[in-house]
Amino acid sequence: MAAVLNHDELEGFAEALHELLEALHEALTDELNEIEHVRHLLRRTGQGCSERQSALDVARRLNLAHLQHHLLSIADCNAALERINRGSFGCCHQCGEAIELNRLRADPLIITCLCCHG
Ligand SMILES: [Zn+2]
Repeated sequence: MAAVLNHDELEGFAEALHELLEALHEALTDELNEIEHVRHLLRRTGQGCSERQSALDVARRLNLAHLQHHLLSIADCNAALERINRGSFGCCHQCGEAIELNRLRADPLIITCLCCHG
């Protein structure tokens, strides 16, 4: 069953998704630079200072968690844009019914209606 979104609404969602993608790409670039910086520090620190080393390890792990989250979000964004192109955006992946508009507005990446969300 087709979603009840009109052309303008779809355009609005596409625009929001593009903006989100841009922000995610920026965040990713920053994170990659940060990780590179930490790696550089770790290489220079040597064996002596274990406290500093483990602190840097923690920082690196946190960044990787963010990085992974952002990579997944980028994949979700691209999938949502593809659904807009295919005309299936706004349809619940489980039951095929239209996803509530307020839910989509709050998060254009969701793929299930309130009932199927569990
Ligand atoms: Zn559903």
